[in-house]
Amino acid sequence: MVIKGDCPKCKTAFRIDINKTSNNFSCIHCNKEFDKITIENIKNTKLVSICPICLSNDFWIDKNFPKKVGIFFVIITAILVPFTYGLSFVILFILDLTLWFLLGWRINCYRCEAVFVGFQKNSRYKKFDLKLADYYKKSSLSKD
Ligand SMILES: [Zn+2]
Ligand SMILES: [Zn+2]
Repeated sequence: MVIKGDCPKCKTAFRIDINKTSNNFSCIHCNKEFDKITIENIKNTKLVSICPICLSNDFWIDKNFPKKVGIFFVIITAILVPFTYGLSFVILFILDLTLWFLLGWRINCYRCEAVFVGFQKNSRYKKFDLKLADYYKKSSLSKD
């Protein structure tokens, strides 16, 4: 279970593996401490209900799929179309569907844009909502 994001204080990228890190949940750059109780809670329940970085509780989910790999597949498929009479697109579709089931969910925090990988999916998390993202963007701008 990994948490990735940018430190809200110094903006340095961090990566915390909560299974490996025992009690040092802080930014290696500025030493800002992340909420230890929240992280412990996430570790025990495998659910993210509060973001340990910014303490927000609004999240959206998507699949943990590397974009570059996806683009690579599409290019290969397009190249193969003349040789496979379009069948390569069918294969891509099946491959896509298989990966969809195999890959885990990725939970994203609206407020600080931290990413949580390897956690349980919760019905609380919704698909990306532009309105909510806009709201957080505006509220963070007015704070600066
Ligand atoms: Zn920092
Ligand atoms: Zn957050």
